Amino acid sequence: MVLLIKSGGAEAIPEWQSLLAELAPDLVVRGWDDPTVAPDRVRYALVWEPNAGRLAQFQNLELIVSSAAGVDHILADATVPRHVPIVRMVTGETGERMADFVTMAAYALSRDLPRIVAAQREQRWDASLTGRMASETTVGIMGLGELGRASATRLAASGFQVIGWARSPKSLDRVQCYVGRGEFDAFLSRSQILVNLLPDTDETRGIVDASLLARLPHGAAIVNAGRGSQLDPAALLAALDTGQVGSAMLDVFDVEPLPANHPLWRHPNVIVTPHVASAVSRRAKARQAAAAIAAHRAGMPVPHLYERERGY
Ligand code: NDP
Repeated sequence: MVLLIKSGGAEAIPEWQSLLAELAPDLVVRGWDDPTVAPDRVRYALVWEPNAGRLAQFQNLELIVSSAAGVDHILADATVPRHVPIVRMVTGETGERMADFVTMAAYALSRDLPRIVAAQREQRWDASLTGRMASETTVGIMGLGELGRASATRLAASGFQVIGWARSPKSLDRVQCYVGRGEFDAFLSRSQILVNLLPDTDETRGIVDASLLARLPHGAAIVNAGRGSQLDPAALLAALDTGQVGSAMLDVFDVEPLPANHPLWRHPNVIVTPHVASAVSRRAKARQAAAAIAAHRAGMPVPHLYERERGY
């Protein structure tokens, strides 16, 4: 039974093999481009951005494990067999790392760090950049799933006022939750820092556009750690120019790596991070992949399955 892996490149395969030898000794772990693997022996695939058409070649494929919490990088290939379940990579580390990142971003943006760093580059001492206290800053989180909930809880514990928005009602300690399109405007109008942690779906693609940005409090900050497809960069740059948006911290982009000539790289009020908000270790990923495969083989429910009907 072969588990084929495309995650981290060919140089990562020996590490995957040694991690999985401990966790699932009966699995034969092979790299994506290994020419010795007969396609009919492939039962499982652990992948990041699989080449279009490749997964469809494995007629005995039983389970696809996404190397990331999102599955958009797999669904981009329309030939991926629809009957094969896809597991999202949600490990013990995923929420914790994202909560670290979002809390760092909330502190950085509430304390005007982009402008402070820009002033430092010009050796300019600007003591007016005092920022705002956490307790007087409302952070609005779009998406209250695994990552949104972990981030909301940590932000509340760190002293921020926290509100959240999701498709279905939620009850979270110290977090006021808004539901659906009907309550979206009320949520946006309070979000001094807007954090996007939505999955990429037909409904969420392009959601952070000019109209959304106009509904935020003047001078609001944006944190995008969901997907680049959800944010219109031209609308963000325009809102930064007018001051409607004060600053942004962006971890994900439509094209990654962000092209060298992109204006977001050089904008003084923008911090760019290279899709590292919740970069989980291979050890944690191997543990989750082995657990998902074991549950599947035992006929038990596999946690964190992608649900096609709802799109995430
Ligand atoms: P989940 O599937 O656990 O949660 C998704 C949340 O979004 C749910 O609360 C869901 O609502 C809400 N949602 C989905 N569609 C809508 C909609 N149309 N309107 C309102 N709310 C909606 O996902 P995770 O928290 O695990 O991950 C979220 C995303 O974060 C991933 O899909 C991925 O794109 C991104 N990510 C980014 C990383 C990075 O390093 N930058 C790392 C990992 C993930 P409900 O609860 O009602 O279902």
